[in-house]
Amino acid sequence: MTTLVWLQREFRLTCLPALEAALCSTEILDDLSSSDGVIFAYFHDPAQTVGDANTLWLAHSLQKLQQAIRAKGGDLWILEGDFECQFSEVLSSYQVKRVFYSFQVGTPFKAMQEQALGICQTQGVALQPFYSEFLVEPDQIRNQQNNPYLVFTPFYKTLIAKQALIEPLDETVGDLSVTAVLKPFDQAWLNLPASLKALLTLPWAQKLMENEHASQPWQVGEEAAWQKLENFIENDLADYDEDRNFPKLSATSILSPHLHFGELNPRTIFFYLQALMADGRVKYDQAMPWFRQLVWKEFARHLLVNFPQTETEPFQAKYQSMTWQADETDYQAWQKGLTGIPIIDAGMRELWQTGTMHNRVRMLVASFLTKNLNQHWLLGKAWFDHTLFDADPANNVMGWQWVAGCGVDASPYYRLFNPVTQSTKFDADGVYIKTWVPELKALSKKAIHAPWEHSAECLAKGIVLGQDYPLPIADLKQSRIAHLERVGAMKLSTEKS
Ligand SMILES: Cc1cc2nc3c(=O)[nH]c(=O)nc-3n(C[C@H](O)[C@H](O)[C@H](O)COP(=O)(O)OP(=O)(O)OC[C@H]3O[C@@H](n4cnc5c(N)ncnc54)[C@H](O)[C@@H]3O)c2cc1C
Repeated sequence: MTTLVWLQREFRLTCLPALEAALCSTEILDDLSSSDGVIFAYFHDPAQTVGDANTLWLAHSLQKLQQAIRAKGGDLWILEGDFECQFSEVLSSYQVKRVFYSFQVGTPFKAMQEQALGICQTQGVALQPFYSEFLVEPDQIRNQQNNPYLVFTPFYKTLIAKQALIEPLDETVGDLSVTAVLKPFDQAWLNLPASLKALLTLPWAQKLMENEHASQPWQVGEEAAWQKLENFIENDLADYDEDRNFPKLSATSILSPHLHFGELNPRTIFFYLQALMADGRVKYDQAMPWFRQLVWKEFARHLLVNFPQTETEPFQAKYQSMTWQADETDYQAWQKGLTGIPIIDAGMRELWQTGTMHNRVRMLVASFLTKNLNQHWLLGKAWFDHTLFDADPANNVMGWQWVAGCGVDASPYYRLFNPVTQSTKFDADGVYIKTWVPELKALSKKAIHAPWEHSAECLAKGIVLGQDYPLPIADLKQSRIAHLERVGAMKLSTEKS
């Protein structure tokens, strides 16, 4: 019997139940014939991807995984083209009887999973999901009314109270040679597809991977992810809770792309932290603030499973009637980091140049776009999807809806982050701003957060506002008032209807 292990995101060899289940059940077949085996495959459909930076990481990660499995005598097929055609053809040509895959949420995975289900039903193939990218299955954490939690803190508390439900993943890897028994019809499936290969050579892609503002280039893959986790635990975990809000410090784990691609698994991390705490190598009150952040990821995934429409619609229905402005000039200034508000521009340039952005700054740029510039949160989400390595359907939509005020457990509508106050608080000496907005390097720490209020110093330092650096594209006070009025009008119109 042939089993297809359909890989969508879990780009690792260890702790991968879908693969392990296929290997175990195939190993016990004594009479493995030439038509039996396990096909371990990724289907790359260029029309169903998350975004460009994300696809770049994907290309590197697939390459690493293919190398790792080959070194152990197995193989990974990578097919390129229309997903439905390729998937259907593999099932019928290789007489696949069952498909194992790990369940994913959001776009493009939801649609592909539905397509796979339709094909399997037509061809009489069993399709089995594994929920290994979740700490617990989505229906296991419910409130007293048996509904999904809509507020993070009770969700977190319940998860911790029910942590016995978190099942460890088996670390042993079976005989991977079973994945190399069947030969692909097309030798090209044993290499990175043409479009991904081409992507790796593009100048922007190479520059992005260089991660020029960090001490070393981005490292991709399961091994690199583990090294990063170890380094983070060794050097930064103890101070994480204190330092994580300061963008100039590299105080967070920067594991999000690895977690998105499943190079590291949250459950594996949970048990690893437990072991370190039991050994006394890590203290509970140091590990848990970080683990709590990891549970936000879990929360986002549970939300999207339960409310799939929120990928494009506001969770709070009243926000359907919110009026947004479509201003291409403002949107482009925001994308390019040319808004004239230094902390916003620093974040947007960090994103463009490195494929990531500090969490606090993500909140600030999102608040500025949706509340001060009154641009739709979907526009911001789309740009993040395009530029973030870690662009993740669940985390991204939750982040944007939270900031825009229309999500579950959202930041209240009247809470606009004031970028100048935030910048003064979290980047007091302007180090982060100076890294990404070098044209302001000469400014004092007093002037750097709001140069337009210090025009004399700017001139004295040779910075002509509006020429060397933009004047602010929005007046922070007036745009705040305008936002509050818009929300007031929206509330009034929903109360009337
Ligand atoms: C508007 C907006 C959009 C966002 N879009 C994404 C996205 O597309 N992909 C993404 O992974 N994160 C997103 N986040 C959440 C957060 O900014 C990143 O997960 C975090 O910055 C990653 O850095 P880190 O790995 O150093 O995190 P750490 O602080 O080390 O946290 C560890 C892990 O916990 C998870 N995590 C931490 N904070 C959050 C959070 N607020 N929500 C969900 N998970 C979290 C991540 O997987 C992260 O890697 C977004 C936040 C906002 C405000």
